[in-house]
Amino acid sequence: MMSITIALAGNPNSGKSTLFNALTGSNQYVGNWPGVTVEKKGGVYKKDKSVNIMDLPGIYSLSPYTLEEVVSREYLINENPDVIVNVVDASNIERNLYLTTQLSELGIPMVIALNMMDIVEKNGDIINVEELSRKLGYPVIEISALRNKNTDKVIEVAKKVARNKHVHINSFTEGVEKIVSDIERIIENKVEERHNRWYSIKLLEKDEKAVKNLDLTLLDKQEIDSIIEKAENEYDDDGEGIITDARYSYISDLISNTVKKGRSGLTRSDKIDRIVTNRILAIPIFAAIIYLVYFISVAVVGGGVTDWVNDVFFGEIIGGNIQNFLESAKVAPWLVSLVVDGIIAGVGGVLGFTPIIATLYFFLAILEDIGYMSRIAFILDRLFRRFGLSGKSFIPILIGTGCSVPGIMATRTIENENDRRMTIMVASFMPCGAKTEIIALFSAAIFAGAKGWWFAPLCYFAGILAVIISGTMLKKTSMFAGEPAPFVMELPEYHMPTISNVLRTTWDRLKAFIIKAGTVILIATVVIWFLQNISTSFEFVEFSGESHSILEAIGKTIAPIFGPLGFGQWAATVATICGLVAKEVVVSTFGVVAGLGAVDGSDPSMIQYASTIFTSVSALSFMLFNQLCIPCFAAVGALREEMKSAKWTWFAIAYQLLFAYAISFMVYQFGKVLVLKQAATVGTGIAGAVLVFMLYMMFRRPKKTDSIEVKRAVSEE
Ligand code: GDP
Ligand code: MG
Repeated sequence: MMSITIALAGNPNSGKSTLFNALTGSNQYVGNWPGVTVEKKGGVYKKDKSVNIMDLPGIYSLSPYTLEEVVSREYLINENPDVIVNVVDASNIERNLYLTTQLSELGIPMVIALNMMDIVEKNGDIINVEELSRKLGYPVIEISALRNKNTDKVIEVAKKVARNKHVHINSFTEGVEKIVSDIERIIENKVEERHNRWYSIKLLEKDEKAVKNLDLTLLDKQEIDSIIEKAENEYDDDGEGIITDARYSYISDLISNTVKKGRSGLTRSDKIDRIVTNRILAIPIFAAIIYLVYFISVAVVGGGVTDWVNDVFFGEIIGGNIQNFLESAKVAPWLVSLVVDGIIAGVGGVLGFTPIIATLYFFLAILEDIGYMSRIAFILDRLFRRFGLSGKSFIPILIGTGCSVPGIMATRTIENENDRRMTIMVASFMPCGAKTEIIALFSAAIFAGAKGWWFAPLCYFAGILAVIISGTMLKKTSMFAGEPAPFVMELPEYHMPTISNVLRTTWDRLKAFIIKAGTVILIATVVIWFLQNISTSFEFVEFSGESHSILEAIGKTIAPIFGPLGFGQWAATVATICGLVAKEVVVSTFGVVAGLGAVDGSDPSMIQYASTIFTSVSALSFMLFNQLCIPCFAAVGALREEMKSAKWTWFAIAYQLLFAYAISFMVYQFGKVLVLKQAATVGTGIAGAVLVFMLYMMFRRPKKTDSIEVKRAVSEE
């Protein structure tokens, strides 16, 4: 049996992914398009393994202006899918059909899946599907992807259409058709027949990227130019404008005869939106919801369950039993220590966060599924735009407060490549679950008592501030210049959460977190254990009688670098370095270095130790450096994966390091003078210079916007 490939194409939020999930069930893979970071989702139809389904990026048109559009059209033109299923949001049919007119020019068989029919029915709109189908020249099938209604019929019809190789050309007004066919005649021998109309229209639109591979002679080009010039004079518009107009009038003609809007009153979603996107109430409601989500995840689930997982499950049940077993099997003590104190404690420490993170993701997935997250993005867009990010950057940053790994992965929902890269770079500035352990230690040790309550919120606030400052600075550089992509997301109608969607999203993100714990962190804990336990003369520290581990030697070598930040002690240096494996390790490293054994941040002996090596100012500086500098290995791995480029990965790492260093330096140097009332030094002066430099970077005139930026980013890869 021949296998066929179906490409799902449609506007963002038209329901492509919902349809894709309904059709493929769990038979899917996610990857990236070669060379670029736009997500590529492929899968196999669950009822017929010979049907491959591709979920293309959501797009509003096939122009060359965004990466998604370029990726989608290159796929459609070069990969020759057998049939396109154009997913159309029927409750927004007019806007969605704009893409449909373009897809119909590709010369590929097509089926139109008129999605969200449940909403159309509820709104009382009436769509004459037969008439619509007749006029469009393609089969139109009414479906509800969410309710899984008629979705199998889409495949059935798509198979039939693919077999017949049925294509239909929509036609514009006679005048425009004449221009197009004149161009068609010139290029007819240079392109495959079915692509003729597509290329002719692209030539008329002067879409250079689309036509650059056409092998046209100078004469051809001159002829085409003169046709276009004549048309432009006649229509008093440029080529692209002529076609755009033609599409709109085609659509309005189509709609006027086939769609009857029902009552125009407020829908239920409109009523909810009046409250939750209200100018005054929106932010407080949002803050309350997020607070509740965090409260349940961190305090209710986190408190008890995490302690139990760490202390009882990994500590006693797994760790204890394995220790007993290994000891009774007469395994060498160092190996027991490696397994129990190194691997189980290290990996367990990370996995201990699983319950918190799972709960957090579960609630965030519900908010996403019911349609609230799009509202949040919408509400925050105006605010974020001021410092160069889009509202969509918010979701990764929010998820990043649980763990940076899925936070960084969540940037996939950001269509614009610049916004996306920048969000990847700043998402890990937020205090993730692991960093909260360092926060907890310092709140108790340094800022104990009445003064301590503000420390944790301060770290969150510092994270947000770091995002804002970085966004503002980076946006002024030529690398990130240009407006954040305009916010043209269709706000979906609210609906009850679908449990399968929520669980799938939660699991996808959680899986990423667990896999990293089991791979990167596993290896790194082993390495650190050796560095901690082997002396510079390559003997076990414990047995050699000499307590200078390799880790200590490394710490002492590097420590002076952190002197200007106030924590040049080797213990703090070593803790910071080990923190790159996983930020949880920062606190436990203090425990090991101070000879306290495996104690956590709330242990009195640990609090006592921390208060002897830190002052309030150096503690803040240390905390900020650990929060802002390179995230843990796992997150760096995710960053590398999402950036899809070594150059960008190194740039991000270098930026984060420098930024963290600059901030901690200023905090320590100014803090010494302002808080500890010490005399100003050369360091204070340098810190002043750094501050002035950063302010300059934030407030200087931006570099020129360049709309070709996106194209260049693609061809560069
Ligand atoms: P994509 O951006 O095209 O992949 O769209 P999604 O599949 O993510 O869907 C966007 C939103 O529309 C989600 O909140 C879906 O739950 C919702 N949705 C998708 N299909 C339907 C449908 O048939 N009816 C309703 N009411 N909502 C739908
Ligand atoms: Mg999608």
